[in-house]
Amino acid sequence: MTSQSIKEAARRFGADLVGIADAELLRDLPADENPLSIFPQAKAVIVVGRKVLRGALRGVEEGADFDNAFPTFGFYSHEDNFLAKTTYDLSIWMEGQGFEAVPLFAYDGGKQAVGVPVAPGKPAPNVMVKYRILAQAAGLGETGLNGLFLTPEFGPRQRFAILVADAPVEADSPFKPRLCDDCGACVAACPLEALDAASAKPFGFAGCERAAAARNDARCRRCKAGAFQTNEGRFNAVERMAAACSRACVAALEARGILGERFDNPFRVTAESTQTEATA
Ligand code: SF4
Ligand code: SF4
Repeated sequence: MTSQSIKEAARRFGADLVGIADAELLRDLPADENPLSIFPQAKAVIVVGRKVLRGALRGVEEGADFDNAFPTFGFYSHEDNFLAKTTYDLSIWMEGQGFEAVPLFAYDGGKQAVGVPVAPGKPAPNVMVKYRILAQAAGLGETGLNGLFLTPEFGPRQRFAILVADAPVEADSPFKPRLCDDCGACVAACPLEALDAASAKPFGFAGCERAAAARNDARCRRCKAGAFQTNEGRFNAVERMAAACSRACVAALEARGILGERFDNPFRVTAESTQTEATA
């Protein structure tokens, strides 16, 4: 098994993005968010991504559909069906060749305390990996000023899953930030002024950090500009990919012409189309 054969298999199973992080580079992550706490013998952390359709954002962008296209094809079915199938198929393929692979969703949650450490030196369950850190370590992209993960191919439009594996394969280099140019379009687009760029702090994989704005989570939970709160199974987090702070970024990155996926027509067609209902 090689990194190339893993990447070819992942794409065959539907992945649009795949990167591999060297497990050794992750040793210093906190134990309660470290994939090596889950699989100490791991040699590689494989991050697979599937793009979210630009069309899944359209109804929100036009202020016309908040509850059909995006929540289904951009979130729940995307993650639970399409991405899960890709991840499972790749795990099956790897285990069929004699290497164990632990599949994990890239949940956007915080802590999930369900017990006590089972031995001295072990973290309490559940260990919750930070997918933005792992995806950057795997060379796939960076976290932008808006706090969303951006890739050169799709900007903020993708979801990830993770395979923690004992296959000793060549890793990718961590991603050096170059996508977010601090244009501020995300901050300006937020109707609730929930993003504070003046209080931005470095965020990212060690040595590759860039500034992420402070975010008022309580305001995001009231956002009616395309965000919604997830259920308990997804840690009641705020899902922001279709929110104004993300759609402004899609428009800004496309306008700069830096994204790999190209369209005949621009994402943001008219100023009026940016209007979405927002209440405090
Ligand atoms: S809209 Fe501009 S400042 Fe905000 S995350 Fe995207 S590129 Fe960065
Ligand atoms: S989710 Fe809504 S309130 Fe939160 S930063 Fe984005 S646009 Fe602003």
